[in-house]
Amino acid sequence: MMWQRLKYYVKNFSLWDLITGLRVTGRYFWKQKITIQYPEEKTPTSPRFRGIHALRRYPNGEERCIACKLCEAVCPALAITIEAEPRPDGSRRTSLYEVDLFKCVYCGFCEESCPVDAIVLTNMADFHIENREEKILTKEKLLAIGDKYEAQIAKDRKADERYR
Ligand code: SF4
Ligand code: SF4
Repeated sequence: MMWQRLKYYVKNFSLWDLITGLRVTGRYFWKQKITIQYPEEKTPTSPRFRGIHALRRYPNGEERCIACKLCEAVCPALAITIEAEPRPDGSRRTSLYEVDLFKCVYCGFCEESCPVDAIVLTNMADFHIENREEKILTKEKLLAIGDKYEAQIAKDRKADERYR
């Protein structure tokens, strides 16, 4: 009993708990910091990261999508709507391509199913919408995202191709 009381006083007056806590601080003080200043700094993302969708073009500017509707068929959330019609030159292209962001579960099935690498999920995760109508990504928006991030998309696809 006496011994326990003595131990209690020694621990309290020597600030033992504080020292124990500071030992943890001291152990990490000189280590490399893992916090980053987002959004100026970002952590690396995997080439397989599934962010916002994009539609890609070929280098000559032609749309890749051939309106086969495989992505629409495979989408488990029924988030993709496609309408298609032949062009005057006989090629088949979409007249409407929409992705509903509220329905999408970012599973990546659409990009996996696409035979021409047209619909992809980019590594852009920091996007937002300000009104309900913006939940629909129209074909024009999807192509614009694809044009803007094509360099990154191509790099990610190349890094990832051994898994496909
Ligand atoms: S990521 Fe999945 S849920 Fe979203 S549109 Fe593609 S297939 Fe549908
Ligand atoms: S995005 Fe790909 S899978 Fe979807 S309709 Fe176009 S070509 Fe077919």
